[in-house]
Formats: sequence, C-alpha cells, structure tokens
Amino acid sequence: MKKDAWEKLCSGCGLCCHEKVITENLLLIDTSSACEFYDSESRLCTVYDRRFEKCPRCLKMTLFRAMFADYLPPTCGYVRWARAHHIRLCREKECVLENGILSFVDDSSH
Ligand code: SF4
Ligand code: SF4
Repeated sequence: MKKDAWEKLCSGCGLCCHEKVITENLLLIDTSSACEFYDSESRLCTVYDRRFEKCPRCLKMTLFRAMFADYLPPTCGYVRWARAHHIRLCREKECVLENGILSFVDDSSH
C-alpha cells in the first residue's frame, strides 16, 4: 500500500494520543488525559511532521502495529483495516473513559 493510502486509513479520532491502561483483557483510554501535542478542538497533532522527534512516546503506525498493537481501539481505522483483512488479534473487551464515564466500545460489527 502506498504511503498516502496508508495515512488515509486514520480516521482522526485521536484516541491513540491519550493515556491508556492495558491489562490482559482490557484497554482503557482516558480521554481527559491527552498528549501535550494533541489539540482537542481540531483533534490533530500540533507537531505532526516532527512528532517522533518531539514526543518519544509517539509510535509510528506500521503494518505490524495495525495487526497486533494492544493500545489501539477497535474503532481505529488501522485496526478496522487489519480486521477486514483477517490479520488482527484482539482482546476481549475495550472501553473509553470520557468525562469520568466509562463505556465499553460496541464492536459487534466485527
Ligand atoms: S506527538 Fe504523537 S501522541 Fe502526541 S499528539 Fe502527536 S501524534 Fe499524538
Ligand atoms: S486511534 Fe487510529 S484512527 Fe484514531 S487517530 Fe489513532 S491511528 Fe488514527
């Protein structure tokens, strides 16, 4: 896949730019706690072209991560792509913490 097409798989939800807790069978994303370079209004990275230099925690999206990374939510465009190609391993439950409210992600379509 060409770089442009790969980048377009991102739906821009910004969930991967927030703090997460990962356990054996649960991914918890805290939407009240974002990376310092994340703009919550635009849902964009303010240092996108230099993100790996500015933020050591920032991880490049690769095919391998789309397939296996346990910090990505099921709604992520890369996860959806990997699942559509039957190459995704997933945990039992995934949920999002938003304004103190915990909700499980409905992923019944996959
Ligand atoms: S530096 Fe990385 S983790 Fe931080 S906002 Fe930008 S893309 Fe997201
Ligand atoms: S979780 Fe996936 S779709 Fe959402 S911003 Fe991150 S890479 Fe893009």
